[in-house]
Amino acid sequence: MPADTAPLIPKPATAANGSAGRELIRLEQVTKRFGDTTVLDRLDLSVDAGRHVTLIGPSGSGKTTILRLLMTLTKPDEGTITVDGRRLFPAPEKQCREVRKKIGMVFQQFNLFPNMTVLRNVTEAPRTVLGLSRDEAEARARELLDLVGLADKCDMRPTRLSGGQQQRVAIARALAMRPRVLLLDEVTSALDPELVAGVLDLLRDIARSTDITLLCVTHEMGFARDISDQVLMFDAGRIIESGPPEKLFGDPDHERTREFLSSVL
Ligand code: ADP
Repeated sequence: MPADTAPLIPKPATAANGSAGRELIRLEQVTKRFGDTTVLDRLDLSVDAGRHVTLIGPSGSGKTTILRLLMTLTKPDEGTITVDGRRLFPAPEKQCREVRKKIGMVFQQFNLFPNMTVLRNVTEAPRTVLGLSRDEAEARARELLDLVGLADKCDMRPTRLSGGQQQRVAIARALAMRPRVLLLDEVTSALDPELVAGVLDLLRDIARSTDITLLCVTHEMGFARDISDQVLMFDAGRIIESGPPEKLFGDPDHERTREFLSSVL
């Protein structure tokens, strides 16, 4: 499909279009150490296409490290990572770059380019990484900035925007790459409390109306309950319990899960 007629964001995954239910992400026996500390300990994780998976657990339990491994911002010491049937790790550099294009990430601190306009922040990677023409990239960016409610801010520098607006730009920027997987790393933690709900509502809309696979680290348990198909409870680099949100939040099996939930709810 030509880029200009392709849907802005892929439609929800269904059995009919063949994209639902297929394994998209697989971590096998992944170990990650920082110095003497084992942050992830022979972790196995599988996520099907179109699923919305939330990672919860105490600070330091390894959740963000998983997102950073998928984004190739850090490498495992052992194990394999596969995305959409292709190796992300271990893999030759060129293959790694190709596979990584399927993944977008939104960070806690937005990580926008301060010296570029909002529009350029969103067009930069589609132009340089995907090779889109300036017109194509700008058309896509304007549509996405409209979707996130910032169509009138294209020519501004991000530093002049509120935190909530900056995070919306970061979401538009991630979506502009048309990723199969969107990684959300505590995306509301740096926001003033009154700006949190707007960003979460936007993400709820995206989760509902697209087939993007979501992997989300959050302390917003209400949001996690709303958007997740599956919740994974981490403790010391291992998944100690997983299940649908109603089970995990309503009737967890594990004492550590109960303790954690009572500390954050
Ligand atoms: P979580 O997201 O569950 O809070 P993280 O994945 O951020 O946990 O971190 C897990 C552990 O790894 C923490 O103890 C953290 O201090 C450590 N860690 C993370 N990144 C680094 C790094 N670049 N260098 C050293 N230690 C790190």
